[in-house]
Amino acid sequence: MQFKHVVGQNSIKERLIKSYADNRLAHTQLFLGPEGSGTLPMALAFAKYVNCKNRSPYDSCGTCPSCVKFQKNSHADMHFYFPNNTTDSVKKNPESKLLSNEWREYLKSCENYAVSSDWYNYLGVGNKQGSINVRDAKNITEKMSMKAYEAEYKIVIIWLAEKLNMDASNKLLKTLEEPPDKTLIFLIAERFELLIPTVRSRAQLVKFNSIDLEDLELAMKNISEKINPEINISDLARLANGSWNEARKILNETSLENEFFDQFRNWLRLCFAPKDYKALFSFNQEISRLGREKQKSFLQYGISIVHYCIMMNVNNYNAVKLVGEEFDFVKKFSPFINEANQNKIYELLNNAIYHVERNAHGGIIFTDLSFKLVNLLRLCKAKIKP
Ligand SMILES: [Zn+2]
Repeated sequence: MQFKHVVGQNSIKERLIKSYADNRLAHTQLFLGPEGSGTLPMALAFAKYVNCKNRSPYDSCGTCPSCVKFQKNSHADMHFYFPNNTTDSVKKNPESKLLSNEWREYLKSCENYAVSSDWYNYLGVGNKQGSINVRDAKNITEKMSMKAYEAEYKIVIIWLAEKLNMDASNKLLKTLEEPPDKTLIFLIAERFELLIPTVRSRAQLVKFNSIDLEDLELAMKNISEKINPEINISDLARLANGSWNEARKILNETSLENEFFDQFRNWLRLCFAPKDYKALFSFNQEISRLGREKQKSFLQYGISIVHYCIMMNVNNYNAVKLVGEEFDFVKKFSPFINEANQNKIYELLNNAIYHVERNAHGGIIFTDLSFKLVNLLRLCKAKIKP
């Protein structure tokens, strides 16, 4: 992670770089910001920067031996602590050091934009909450007492410091107050009010806001080659509420769904024009030639459209993660969905997926579905437009 890979947050980057240049590094810093704002990636970029052998005034070099190790999150002088719990592989006395492989793999998969619920899913801890416990605290103090292997600055990253439990916090107070020389401790947190006051008072606060809209838009443009060019990225960026995690999710969903949008709209139109059976049948034949996985995705897309219609009907517009024509389409289609038919429509589409999975003939499935679906939709149309 270099500064250039952290989305937006330019004033914080500048401030950190200046603190290093002026030799005013705070030894314990609290990076506080909402999920998706880039607190952890910023700490990683800064750790890499201060240890780089060939840094520029703006960023680490990315290629020196130190940078390469930091890039893999495997530098021997960088120590990670994070909420943990028992898992299938760690059956008792969990602590961060026993899960460091999982942690590194998880960071790789999310490109260092870690999210607590995703992390717990990754670990497979089920409904259990994670915490950073006294074994972790003991490990931190041990690492602090050892000399650095090779880095100029030894780095400790405590991700989600609000998950430090009371025993762990008490054990760490002295370390946080006065870490050994050439040691940087980064506390990463999302909720200030959940941090134990004695912990937060020992760190210099660096507050992150949500990512600026323009920065988010720019970063989205950089990774959105796959997206339909008609889609307006500014609209998508607005839906992401300043979170890079949300932005990537929206981009993924949009590029996937859009593949079926025209087809789905055409199909519904044909369903509503029953005199033109020929066109409907040939459309259904065409769908049946797509292959099973595509047929399932088409039907799943239908389910998501019904879901968005329901959201629209209860005025929850923020939950409708669509833009442009797709958004307009859902707006027009939503009056056809109501409490009387929505469950039956879900059931129809899910049944169709069930039959596709079991190799039933696509042409038959889709023709059957067309008739049943249009009956349900008409029922509703008759009610609202007498
Ligand atoms: Zn370097």
